[in-house]
Amino acid sequence: MSTLLPSRTQAASPAAFTDRHIGIGPDAQAHMLDVVGYDSVEALVETAVPASIHVQPRASSEIPVAATEAEALAELRELATANRSARPMIGLGYYDTLTPSVISRNVLENPSWYTAYTPYQPEISQGRLEALINFQTMVTDLTGLATANASMLDESTAVVEGMLVARRASKAKTDVFLVDVDALPQTKALLHHRAAAVGIRIVETAFEGELPEAFGAFVQYPGATGRIWDFSAVADAVHAHGGLVVAAADLLALTLLRSPGALGADVAVGTTQRFGVPLGFGGPHAGYMAVRAGLERQLPGRLVGVSQDAVGAPAYRLSLQTREQHIRREKATSNICTAQVLLAVMAAMYAVYHGPDGLRAIATRVAQKADALASALRSSELNLASDAFFDTVRVHVPGRAQDVVDRARDRGYQLLWVDDATVGVSVDETTTDADLLAVLEAFGLASEDLPAGEALRGIDDALHRDDEYLTHPVFHAHRSETAMMRYLKSLADRDYALDRGMIPLGSCTMKLNAATEMAAVSWPEFSRVHPFAPEADVRGYLEMIEQLERWLAEVTGYDAVSLQPNAGSQGELAGLLAIRGYHLANGDAERTVCLIPSSAHGTNAASAILAGMKVVVVACDEAGNVDLGDLRAKIAQHAAELSALMITYPSTHGVYEHDVLEITQAVHDAGGQVYVDGANLNALLGFARFGDLGGDVSHLNLHKTFAIPHGGGGPGVGPVAAKAHLAPFLPSHPFSQRAEHAGGVFDGGPVSAAPHGSAGILPISWAYVRMMGAEGLRQATAAAVLSANYIAARLREHYPVLYAGEGGLVAHECILDLRPLKEQTGVTVDDVAKRLIDYGFHAPTMSFPVAGTLMVEPTESEDLVELDRFVDAMIAIKHEALAVAAGEWPADDNPLVNAPHTAETVVVGEWEHPYSRETAVYPVRSLVRGKYWPPVRRIDQAYGDRNLVCSCPPPEAFA
Ligand SMILES: *Cc1c(COP(=O)(O)O)cnc(C)c1O
Repeated sequence: MSTLLPSRTQAASPAAFTDRHIGIGPDAQAHMLDVVGYDSVEALVETAVPASIHVQPRASSEIPVAATEAEALAELRELATANRSARPMIGLGYYDTLTPSVISRNVLENPSWYTAYTPYQPEISQGRLEALINFQTMVTDLTGLATANASMLDESTAVVEGMLVARRASKAKTDVFLVDVDALPQTKALLHHRAAAVGIRIVETAFEGELPEAFGAFVQYPGATGRIWDFSAVADAVHAHGGLVVAAADLLALTLLRSPGALGADVAVGTTQRFGVPLGFGGPHAGYMAVRAGLERQLPGRLVGVSQDAVGAPAYRLSLQTREQHIRREKATSNICTAQVLLAVMAAMYAVYHGPDGLRAIATRVAQKADALASALRSSELNLASDAFFDTVRVHVPGRAQDVVDRARDRGYQLLWVDDATVGVSVDETTTDADLLAVLEAFGLASEDLPAGEALRGIDDALHRDDEYLTHPVFHAHRSETAMMRYLKSLADRDYALDRGMIPLGSCTMKLNAATEMAAVSWPEFSRVHPFAPEADVRGYLEMIEQLERWLAEVTGYDAVSLQPNAGSQGELAGLLAIRGYHLANGDAERTVCLIPSSAHGTNAASAILAGMKVVVVACDEAGNVDLGDLRAKIAQHAAELSALMITYPSTHGVYEHDVLEITQAVHDAGGQVYVDGANLNALLGFARFGDLGGDVSHLNLHKTFAIPHGGGGPGVGPVAAKAHLAPFLPSHPFSQRAEHAGGVFDGGPVSAAPHGSAGILPISWAYVRMMGAEGLRQATAAAVLSANYIAARLREHYPVLYAGEGGLVAHECILDLRPLKEQTGVTVDDVAKRLIDYGFHAPTMSFPVAGTLMVEPTESEDLVELDRFVDAMIAIKHEALAVAAGEWPADDNPLVNAPHTAETVVVGEWEHPYSRETAVYPVRSLVRGKYWPPVRRIDQAYGDRNLVCSCPPPEAFA
């Protein structure tokens, strides 16, 4: 259509979104191609990507022609309208909540928070690290345990991780794990699925009478039915056998109830969703885990701790096992990488804003309303399953359950159909008296007013909470909106996110997260939807999900896609579990060996273990490719037990391996399946497809390639995509609104608590694909590859580029080898990374996949000015290192080893260094106006691990 328009008209029409998303325009591209030595972007990419894997042009595409931003928003509006607004009172771990506007505007909708990266560079992450230590303090206080981590992916996966903690820590010699019959149904489904893969036997129990010996027991507190009971005697019995007790506890209920720690739990897990985090049709939300003293080494996920910087000032950083899955691989405690930072920040801020009194008041109102509802039901001769409840009642209505649920739905309320005779109703902080009267009407009770409710009326005094919590000043100091707004701003100011400059992190794809893509996330039609809502109420969501699945299938060359996994690591696990299921169905139970190249991301090996596989490492050759000889030898050695090969394409070394078809063929010939790690899809989209490379299954990272922001370390979405033969083993979910995903076609068991995982952020990726179109996606790949090659070309003479493929080209990232520099000058990769902060940059990925290197991934979104600013900084730093080598500056006192420099460093006291203050903080002139000032000096990692402190330090520490 547009080709018929005269070009002047075109110029006057709004810029295509593609041109907003891709940072380098035609002039910049021409200049960059010149530097790299190619005539066209097409020629460059066609050379870099091996000809044998190029996609064939498609006659038709599922992906429509690119929409403008306005068009995409209008279509999203239509999808939103197709969801029927209803008040969810379904419960089962998900509750409507009132996100304080000051938190939605200043955190959820603020790029300073949502575009930040995982705080691996702590000096530029003090704001979000403080927010996360608030989260940890909130969780330890409320659960009554010693140490909490900084988030889990959701409640049900946290329960599974709790079970694994119990198995590692218990001395009991049994594979039995006891599970509460009153556990959430989705948690039970997850436990069964995950336990089977690692040889754990689940025994469901009502905890009555003699308990069998077990390495652990899981208690839901309150239960799925709403029932609250004192499980301390059960805890004693489990402990007597050497087992551990894992309790899933509702944090809002814990503001009124005795803590799991006080009742004898060793591990507490749960979700923090109802602390102001929108439902989002299932996520993203932050799960949590806390453990008693002595178990902190067993904690999965990230743990923030307090340490000190180079001048002894307190400073936060990730502690202990935090990067464990990267370092310890198959010996890691968990495969979690991307977690739920943004949502953990929101939940923590909800507690900061309300404080202990506010939370207690909210909980009390909820419990009073539930009691008022219960009283009204009881006074009409309806029986309840339990009188001891917090917010949930189960009502006995023999033969009438469906009728009651339907009548409620007609009035705009979603209740839980449990069975023909039982309906569940859950109250939350948004519930009004009018809501309760309407619900009573659905039960056939007409009344004008409600009886007075009394919180926790049916609960034993011994279970009422009497200890203090959230006593730290941070939970008391930000009660006015002004104070809260400023607190959030002051934290955001300490951090470096994409709204300040590029974050060239190899393997992480820190591209633009466009405002239009983000918009629909906050719309109530998407954000206030319960994950188990009836199909008829979520048609807009389902349509969006189906479209996105089709688009992803097409661009990857697979037949089936599940959006359920909450992160790449969970997609890996889902994919490997699918492979496991496939082999078992074929009678190949002995196929358990997973081949993984030595260069692989640490999550690969950790996921393989969780899928019950044995990891066998395959060597890489000098060029960074999988060593074909070693691969063939390992295949021959393990032929009968070969389950799968996990390979990353292009490789984590940033090159397109030419032998990939031979590699996948060799695995297939031996009866194995091929898992292609899709984290590097940004180097391939539109040019080649995993399915065509011989992949049987892959995960994608929508928070890398498909524009979902990193949120400071999550949320993520890690869809798993597979060929048709694996579809029956892909994730299913007992509550999926789509029959084919509830065992109809996909029948692999769930890997997330919610049927569609973190559905609430899918509008972002949907909008990205919708506004880019197939052609735009291809252009983005080309621009990303051009930018990486431009950086490689400009920096090669200063830092060797470690691996390159055809024509000396890299893929979408390049590895700069800093080991020669260290040899020559003594300056380390750490020094360079910290000095980059002084120059106003976030460091590239450090020492992955090769120690002593920096892996740079500019993405397509950066413009030439920013790319050059980075290259120039790297060159300037090289000169500084040479000055150290030349003896101009001593090895132990120079701008590199002292980096980063704070304002205090250059302002307070005498300046006694052999370089100027200007060199310290303004190494280039442009910084004078736009300086990012790090709040702390270089942080001593080891000190914090020797003196582990994982909750808020007293304010005096900062005096
Ligand atoms: C990011 C990444 C993963 C893990 O994905 P998460 O979403 O962080 O769990 C796996 N493999 C590679 C190569 C990655 O870069």
